[in-house]
Amino acid sequence: MPELPEVETMRLQLKKYLTGHIILSVEVKNRRTFQGDENKIIEGKVLDVRRFGKVSVIDLDNGYSIISHVKLTGQFIYRGPHLPNPGKLSTKVTGGIPGPHTLVVFRLNGDGVLYYNDVRRFGWIRIEKTEDVEKEKFIVKLGPEPFGSAQGKPSLLTLDIFKDILSKTSRPIKVVLMDQEKMGGVGNIYANDALWLSKINPRTPAKNLEGDEVKLLFDAIIKVLKEGIKYGGASELAFVTPDGKEGEYQNHTLVYGHEGEPCERPACRQAGVKIEKFFLGGRGTYFCPFCQKE
Ligand SMILES: [Zn+2]
Repeated sequence: MPELPEVETMRLQLKKYLTGHIILSVEVKNRRTFQGDENKIIEGKVLDVRRFGKVSVIDLDNGYSIISHVKLTGQFIYRGPHLPNPGKLSTKVTGGIPGPHTLVVFRLNGDGVLYYNDVRRFGWIRIEKTEDVEKEKFIVKLGPEPFGSAQGKPSLLTLDIFKDILSKTSRPIKVVLMDQEKMGGVGNIYANDALWLSKINPRTPAKNLEGDEVKLLFDAIIKVLKEGIKYGGASELAFVTPDGKEGEYQNHTLVYGHEGEPCERPACRQAGVKIEKFFLGGRGTYFCPFCQKE
């Protein structure tokens, strides 16, 4: 499932490509995917694209917004004047555009088109008044996140809040990092990499971490999420960016997916240590038994 870096990459591109476009028509091929009245957004001009956790919100100038969650396999693909040289479409855009998995087509002025593809059909798009967006239950209960905001939702995860969250539980640190009600944004790939970067064993009870370890881990989380955004997210399953390309972070992971390979740290490499994998909280967990000793 796309995580913070993937959804943020999507937001940045949607903002770049859609801002200024006027919606001329909406073709809905699947009523379960598209909820609400599409007529409310016709003639609406895109002002901004916001993100609340994994939810994207396209704000229009007529008081309505298009809220969406791509879930496992949803893909927004833009073609039009704001992307003059789109290049080759990723093969992960299943069925092409438009294709058998294209569920919604937004036609925009200036020959622009925004396609929504979704093979598994878990994703959704909903039309709502802009003023009601932040009253949505799933937005209200979002935990603080590393790139949250000082005023609105989700709130900013500061080092003090992070320390406080960890001090209250003896659950394994990796499980706590991924608990979206405690804190948002850190999915499996990034949790693995942040723990390796801060030399912390994923099984360590959260409240046993020392003050300096907590600080190291906090900084490591920010760092790996920024790397994720820099590489356009990770395209492990069906994630593609609105330009129709794949994210690259999966080729730059620190420990995630490296089972059986030598640890990158020189001391570990010299000792011939290999990355191990086990399951923790049902999720694939990768760590170096040498530099991330319990
Ligand atoms: Zn190591």
